[in-house]
Amino acid sequence: MISPIESTPTRVSDICGSIRASGKKVAFVPTMGALHEGHLSLVNQARAAGDVVVVSIFVNPKQFGPSEDLDKYPKNLAADQEKLSKKGVELIFAPSPAEMYPPGFATEVKIPKGVTVGFCGAKRPGHFDGVATVVTKLLNIVGPCFAVFGRKDYQQLQVIKRLVADLNLPVHIIEGPTVRESDGLAMSSRNVYLTPEERVRALAIPGALTAAHVLFNQSSNSNPTVGELLTAVKTPIEAAADSVDYITAADPETLIPLQSEATAPPRLLIAAAAFFGATRLIDNTVLGEDAPPQ
Ligand code: AMP
Repeated sequence: MISPIESTPTRVSDICGSIRASGKKVAFVPTMGALHEGHLSLVNQARAAGDVVVVSIFVNPKQFGPSEDLDKYPKNLAADQEKLSKKGVELIFAPSPAEMYPPGFATEVKIPKGVTVGFCGAKRPGHFDGVATVVTKLLNIVGPCFAVFGRKDYQQLQVIKRLVADLNLPVHIIEGPTVRESDGLAMSSRNVYLTPEERVRALAIPGALTAAHVLFNQSSNSNPTVGELLTAVKTPIEAAADSVDYITAADPETLIPLQSEATAPPRLLIAAAAFFGATRLIDNTVLGEDAPPQ
């Protein structure tokens, strides 16, 4: 069966309402399209959680800065539809920007404190306001559901958890682990921008995160300090990348950075963002919880 595509919010609300009225559970996966195995793993999790799977495909202009890649963001709705059809996805919601933001649209959802402050929040002003606004709209359109988000975008996941809790949205969030290529590179729609040479250099990111796991797990030594772990991550990424936006160690829930001289706690997040050519890649791992990337 070919997964049907709907573009109007009211139609999707009606369909999802009917599904729930028939006693079935909706499971929802929001995406920006250009789907890869990372997205499809979230679809698998949605399938396990609910009875009917809805996937949205919307490249949200509000979460891109003026100098970012909105215009060249990869789009291929036909290929995405084929991939989702193979997964038996019951409904694809692919609105146009005008359907999501009609003339007169004026409301913004902002999270000015806490989990939005550091990492990408500091480097991409307004990004998480755009994310929070579109995710609030998408979750309101789909209605009560299981909603699946990837840990690849770790800060975004924490922002959405905050949003859902603070606004009492009737949604149960499910987290999907980061899916990687066989060599460890985190799958991303933006990986297609990388030249072959940049892609080789980009492997420094999963390599560095793996080195942090090795240091963290070395039982012969006493626990490393946060600074020692950060050095193990920064040295190879700074050598390979064209520029580094951030490499930070933080509490995995609050995202508050940890002091370099502190001994590593039992769980800690290391998150990195770096440019390879014009392509900005992000990745992360939670030491003490995630498997090493390589
Ligand atoms: P995007 O289309 O990039 O906005 O991503 C849509 C959803 O897929 C988000 O919840 C992402 O965190 C998730 N996602 C993207 N890449 C991966 C990946 N490599 N592994 C798991 N989830 C991913």
